[in-house]
Amino acid sequence: MTCLRLVLGDQLNPNHPWFSERRDDVVYVLMEIRQETDYVLHHAQKILAIFAAMRRFAEQLREAGHRVCYLAIDDAGNRQSLPDNLSNLLHLNAASRLEYQEPDEWRLDQQLRLYAEQQAVAVHCVDSAHFLTSREEFASFFGSRGRWTMEVFYRHMRKRHGVLLEYDGAPLGGRWNFDEENRKPWRGGPPEPPDLRPRHDVSALWRTIREAGVASFGDPNADALRWPLDRNEALQQLQAFITHSLPHFGDYQDAISAQAPRLFHSLLSFALNVKMLSPGEVIAQVELAGRDGLAPLAAVEGFIRQILGWREYVRGVYWSQMPGYERSNAFGHTRPLPEWFWTGNTRMACVRSAIGLSLTNAHAHHIQRLMVIGNFSLLAGLDPHALHRWYLGIYVDAFEWVELPNTIGMSQFADGGLLATKPYISAAAYLHRMGDHCSRCPYRRDQPTGPRACPFNALYWDFLARHAVRLRHNPRLDMPYRQLARMPDSHRQALSQQAQQLVGNLNSL
Ligand code: FAD
Repeated sequence: MTCLRLVLGDQLNPNHPWFSERRDDVVYVLMEIRQETDYVLHHAQKILAIFAAMRRFAEQLREAGHRVCYLAIDDAGNRQSLPDNLSNLLHLNAASRLEYQEPDEWRLDQQLRLYAEQQAVAVHCVDSAHFLTSREEFASFFGSRGRWTMEVFYRHMRKRHGVLLEYDGAPLGGRWNFDEENRKPWRGGPPEPPDLRPRHDVSALWRTIREAGVASFGDPNADALRWPLDRNEALQQLQAFITHSLPHFGDYQDAISAQAPRLFHSLLSFALNVKMLSPGEVIAQVELAGRDGLAPLAAVEGFIRQILGWREYVRGVYWSQMPGYERSNAFGHTRPLPEWFWTGNTRMACVRSAIGLSLTNAHAHHIQRLMVIGNFSLLAGLDPHALHRWYLGIYVDAFEWVELPNTIGMSQFADGGLLATKPYISAAAYLHRMGDHCSRCPYRRDQPTGPRACPFNALYWDFLARHAVRLRHNPRLDMPYRQLARMPDSHRQALSQQAQQLVGNLNSL
């Protein structure tokens, strides 16, 4: 009797135990469905990259001798939803069993559980064999210790997986965290490495997607799509990163530059999140490069912390807080997103650049997402749920398990401080120190009020004043609250008035 094995679009791992043997009684099912293109408005490159990678994965499975059923978005028999297609395929293949890998998103997890309960055939869920922490482990971490900060979790992961340790279990280099050394601005050198990723002509697929009526936004770049479409390409990208970017990753991890939009970031999040690469192998290769002296320890540790620490940690927050986390709104912010979130058409140079890059590339690096777009959104009191839907749609690497905690928790502090120890906010001075946009901006970074004052300034102080009851006792905000307390009342009032004007005219900033 036949068994159907469902492979979701973010489960493109050819090393999954499923594929270690070829079985005539197993049919692998992949489907391009409107359910998945339409749950939020997506950037064109996100849809293209996932579909193109799914198609390549199906081809490679066939070449390896597996039986594959692939439903393209425009297939006549495609019923465009997961349950409807599964029921149809179970029937057509006279299948007696359905297997699926644990989905990473709550939405799909629930849908498949419910579907399983309603079936007469046996339905079995297996591990996706991707992450370094299981959902159950996270439930017990959070349960047993109350609140886990990322740093505590990260040290636990270093010890548990034996990463960057001395023989006696002490951290390599005598410290767990080299973050303080990783905060340099970038002033034009060392040069940003060339972008060596291949270009893919996926214009035929793009035509099919459009003709199928799928809505999207952003530049499709369909004749030169730069996202890796299979594991080999992802591995090449990892090697290029280790050789050219890793040595400088730590130093410029927090920098922002109009001249160098990628700086020394890896752009590996898409390959990791669709599971072409495993976090374990990326960490191992980066650690090896460090031990071989190809990159300084501060860079290696800084990079590994992102994957072994943050990536696993946010996933744990997601699974321990869902459902309901997506509705968190600790500050009660309700303002709609300004129109320029969809066009990049704002005069604020740093925001224009970060949103413009996101629209062009379906990617922006962490500091652009956090300290430019997220920072502005929090200071301006934008609705965190609307913002979550925007982040989920625009980035090629956006899957809810990783996007939601980053948006709701890290960037908007909308969970009241469950994930982050303080809101990531700043006025213009920080953006100027870490970036190079201010010199090209019509707004003046050094002015707090007035028609040409940088909007980040008044919004920053007004945010602190508005939320003093909640935030004033946070030790990490002690300094700005002292500064606020020292300001003359008249100055505080002027800042508040300026902030009111700004939020009343968001579309024209
Ligand atoms: P690098 O800087 O090269 O980092 C290496 C890897 O570390 C990344 O590929 C990623 O896998 C991991 N990583 C780094 N920071 C984080 C983090 N905070 N959380 C989880 N993993 C991390 N990341 C996503 O993968 N998908 C998202 O949808 C997403 N949405 C975000 C939304 C907001 C508001 C913010 C502030 C951050 C978001 N991030 C998201 C985290 C981070 O910005 C991206 O992982 C990173 O920019 C991807 O580019 P990169 O591969 O060049 O990363």
